[in-house]
Amino acid sequence: MSTELITDTLNELSLEGIEKSYRIAEAEDVGRHIVLTKDVEQGEIIFQDRPIVTGPARHSEPVCLSCYRLINLNPQKAPTDPEAPVPYVACPRCKWPMCSEECTNHARHKAECFFLFSTGCRINPGDTDSLYDVIMVLRCLYLKNHKPEAWKELVNLQSCEAASMDEELVDRAEKVANLICGTFKLAESFSRELVFEMCSRLETNSFEIPWSQQGVAIQGVYSIGCMLEHSCIPSAHKTFNKDLTLNIRAAYSLDEGDAVSLCYTDNLWTTAQRREHLVYSKDFICTCDRCQDNTENETYMSGLKCLKCPDGFYLPDNPLDCATNWFCYKCKAQAPKGYNDMAESKVSEAVSKLEESGLTVPACRKFISTYSRVLHPNHAHMLDVKYSLLNILGHSQEFMMESLTEQDLKEKEDLAICFLNVASKVLPGISRLKGTSLYELYLSVRQRAILALNQLDKVDHSKESIMGLIRTAGIHLQDCIDCLQYEPEHRPEGRLYKAALMERQNLMELLINVENKFKN
Ligand SMILES: [Zn+2]
Ligand SMILES: [Zn+2]
Ligand SMILES: [Zn+2]
Ligand SMILES: [Zn+2]
Repeated sequence: MSTELITDTLNELSLEGIEKSYRIAEAEDVGRHIVLTKDVEQGEIIFQDRPIVTGPARHSEPVCLSCYRLINLNPQKAPTDPEAPVPYVACPRCKWPMCSEECTNHARHKAECFFLFSTGCRINPGDTDSLYDVIMVLRCLYLKNHKPEAWKELVNLQSCEAASMDEELVDRAEKVANLICGTFKLAESFSRELVFEMCSRLETNSFEIPWSQQGVAIQGVYSIGCMLEHSCIPSAHKTFNKDLTLNIRAAYSLDEGDAVSLCYTDNLWTTAQRREHLVYSKDFICTCDRCQDNTENETYMSGLKCLKCPDGFYLPDNPLDCATNWFCYKCKAQAPKGYNDMAESKVSEAVSKLEESGLTVPACRKFISTYSRVLHPNHAHMLDVKYSLLNILGHSQEFMMESLTEQDLKEKEDLAICFLNVASKVLPGISRLKGTSLYELYLSVRQRAILALNQLDKVDHSKESIMGLIRTAGIHLQDCIDCLQYEPEHRPEGRLYKAALMERQNLMELLINVENKFKN
């Protein structure tokens, strides 16, 4: 089938009776991509997509191949809590470790089970966690003879040329090909070239799907989802349901003709980090508006403190050129040659050390005060540590919410406001960053009201000032609820949404408390 024909067919495929709000367009620079055919409101679903194929990602902890529950390959250890890995059950046909007999018969496990059983290969359960790379590829190959429609969709996805596959990917593809064509004795059915092509296609097109259990990493390939173009300031918000359906919503109000985009890298990294990661993982050179703008939409996320003037920062002259000169935007002084690379490697080393030794409130504070002499307050590494601090202040043993001083609360508020400001510039509209920051901001303002109320016999706070704090907290709480309402229940942000809904009641009780105190 020609590319145009497939694009046309996909354009015609719409959910019965529902008017589609997008079409698949083709352009020389970005290839196939998705464009809106009507205006959509913030939060409105643009499309939902069922995966063609899913499987464990290579860096996943041992999981059941059907339900993706963590499994314990060491049967001596009994699970202690419901979140803990469960003892495994070997599949009666292929011996692959699964969570239960029921899961060994699940449709999702059919592909690898069919191949291994038919060639007489049996798996040694203890060796499986290094074999996850091969599952996704076997599941793709299975489609060829068993689900031709899905196979057509799969081979229609973009892939990078064999010649431009990076070394690491070639290495992995080599291992997968050795397993499939050698160990698993499937060389007669599938050539090494086909296995290589599958590995490359998966690398370019699969989405990492966040899961409920920590340590589980799942990937999935989506026929429409894969066509979403990348932007370092995305227009769409993505979530995955528990059944792995992909939901794409408008992150903010979008107009007919607008492109629907996602960010395929970490939105809070510097331009150099994001672009390097995109080249490495997606074989794609980003030249989006944010990448071209050395201020990164006025966040200064790559900014380094100028050595010549008190309040200027060095920025790359041409952010699309990694060998560019860096200049201070205030005094125009040029940074010493190689200064940016040296600063980057020194600071990332310090961040790794900080993470290794445990993220504590004092350690994060020390990092922030030390590196504010080198980095812009919004520098990616600064944001990294600041986000940790925002989330441990009030939620760690020595810094529980009730024990925070006014100064701690002010610090927490400033951190939350910093993230709301950054989110508004690089993740406009709905985002998990905005929602979680709003929740922490709400907690701080509410705590300030409680603190004021408790001090009434010592400090002369007016009823109006305390009511004002509660009203402000209520506004942040509602904004948080509005922002997190799309998050699925099995994810931390979905659980935070539920907690935010419950907080409404707490806030109401606080209000009554204030009324009563001032009555006496
Ligand atoms: Zn299972
Ligand atoms: Zn099996
Ligand atoms: Zn970009
Ligand atoms: Zn300067």
